[in-house]
Amino acid sequence: MSGLDGLPEGREIGRVASGRGPTLIAIGAIHGNERAGITAARRVIARLSRDDVSIGGELVAFAGNVAAMRAGKRYISRDLNRVWSEAQVAAVEAKAESELDAEDREQLDILAAVRAAIARATGPVYLVDLHTTSAHGVPFALFGDTLAQRAFVSSLPLPIIMGLEEQVDGVLSSYWTRQGCVTFGVEGGQHADPGSTDNLEAVLLLAAEAAGLFSRGAVPETRAAHALLESRRGNLPRVMEVVRRHAIAPEDAFKMEPGFKNLDHARAEQLLARDRNGEIRAPHDGLVMLPLYQGQGDDGFFWGRAVSVTRMRASEALRHLRLDRFLDLLPGVARCKEDPSRFIVDTKIARIYPLGVFHMLGYRRIRNRANELTVERQPERETGTEV
Ligand SMILES: [Zn+2]
Repeated sequence: MSGLDGLPEGREIGRVASGRGPTLIAIGAIHGNERAGITAARRVIARLSRDDVSIGGELVAFAGNVAAMRAGKRYISRDLNRVWSEAQVAAVEAKAESELDAEDREQLDILAAVRAAIARATGPVYLVDLHTTSAHGVPFALFGDTLAQRAFVSSLPLPIIMGLEEQVDGVLSSYWTRQGCVTFGVEGGQHADPGSTDNLEAVLLLAAEAAGLFSRGAVPETRAAHALLESRRGNLPRVMEVVRRHAIAPEDAFKMEPGFKNLDHARAEQLLARDRNGEIRAPHDGLVMLPLYQGQGDDGFFWGRAVSVTRMRASEALRHLRLDRFLDLLPGVARCKEDPSRFIVDTKIARIYPLGVFHMLGYRRIRNRANELTVERQPERETGTEV
């Protein structure tokens, strides 16, 4: 089953399958230094393989960046969780064997493994990407803001962050969302903390239950898993959203202030980090997310705030009414002709734009170029899990 020091020998970590039903695909260590997800997936597969529980469907787990895992690094030459745009996937599939680098090989192998799992599926397909972070902190979920994904992830006892996945291009889970899966990512805690493995194990077990792989309550350990995740949340809000990303480059000499957890409250004016231009302070009371305490990476931290349940419900109601049909009546806003899930905002006309309107409707992917802002969301799908 495992090689040296618990490393998997191949792509597939394990599988439990029986009868017909949903498929849940778990990915661990897409960042090679985040190995907790591998152990967590092994434990859940071992538990669900015991004959006191009857499974309908399939749980299958894959290792992400195997080469980087062996090297004990996040990645070898490129971040394997930034290469999942349609263009990048097409490019790697068109490369000659001799041109492939370490991450290209990993990506092709993952594509084949996940596609095979989808081809075997006899029901809806869910995919969870298991991560850990360099900073300590509570486990939380992030996902592309579609209603189906909101409904699935909200059924788990985890704090959720909306708009985080959309801050970064080429994320694995967003690619598989566009391929028709219901996906989310989970950050389980600090890389080396044994508690992170327990957290990811609890998330995966509860995700298997929520997906419907076994009937609710059929596995007694789900109660302890639920209690564990509830206890981890502490004083953090249940729902949070990203307001902005603090992107960094090596020449910035960015240094996060010590002591922040992976999700943490910050007060107005609190010192967050320093770079070559001086101090970086909190603009007002809010939340620091994923502070960078390691060498590799281009996200310094994310800045966010709590979202009330009322606001969540309001946004869901607006989206059921499909109010985004009318967004292009706003001055300076045009729907993209090629891609109806994208709007183009002319910032010469709409200088100060209430981006909250777009956020409410699930358009959280915002990119700024010259005088043009594009706002996008993941396509909503008409599937059985749509709410
Ligand atoms: Zn990661």
